[in-house]
Amino acid sequence: MPALGLFGGSFDPLHLGHLLVAQAALEELVLDRLVFLPAAQSPFKPGTTPALAAARLRMLRQSLAGQVRMSVDDLEIRRGGVSFTVETCREFSRRLPGWRLLWLIGADHVPTLPLWRDAEQLARIVEFIIIPRPGEPQATLPPPYRLHPLRGWPLKVSSSEIRDRVKAGLPIHHLVPAVVAEVIECENLYRPILRR
Ligand code: ATP
Repeated sequence: MPALGLFGGSFDPLHLGHLLVAQAALEELVLDRLVFLPAAQSPFKPGTTPALAAARLRMLRQSLAGQVRMSVDDLEIRRGGVSFTVETCREFSRRLPGWRLLWLIGADHVPTLPLWRDAEQLARIVEFIIIPRPGEPQATLPPPYRLHPLRGWPLKVSSSEIRDRVKAGLPIHHLVPAVVAEVIECENLYRPILRR
């Protein structure tokens, strides 16, 4: 049965931690493909406004250009509003009957997974790939949840740290793909607005 990895997040911006985890998931779970799904509005970050969807999408698309097994899908951005995982997964199970669907989540989110919208139905549609975060203990949940812990490659970098570094004028090369650093620079993302 073919297997598809689904990687949701704000990707504000995409960083090397995301890409390493995506590659680890492809290899360890023997996925056929993996799709990045930038959220319109994350249910976990109410009250925060991510950078413009167009800029987040551009960074993802340019970083993944030429990749054979990884791609970007903007369905959550097109749907708009809060991006609930179950709605996205229902759409993929409609589109791809007969495929195994596996949703990537950070180990830090596992304890609250049963509180996500329509969690039990979600757990029947998708299996979960658990991303190790440095310092997080191994997470478990009873059935119907099906969890697959990932081994590679925890990297202690976050999008908020990248945004803070840009704001402070610190370099971000080696933490993000080169094209992401370029888009941030050219489009003046994450910098404080200078007033006279
Ligand atoms: P922020 O710092 O703004 O909260 P983030 O770096 O956690 O952002 P998101 O786009 O919100 O990035 O994360 C999308 C997914 O990627 C989440 O499941 C998150 O757990 C995972 N993730 C984020 N950073 C890393 C990392 N360094 N290594 C592995 N997975 C990560």
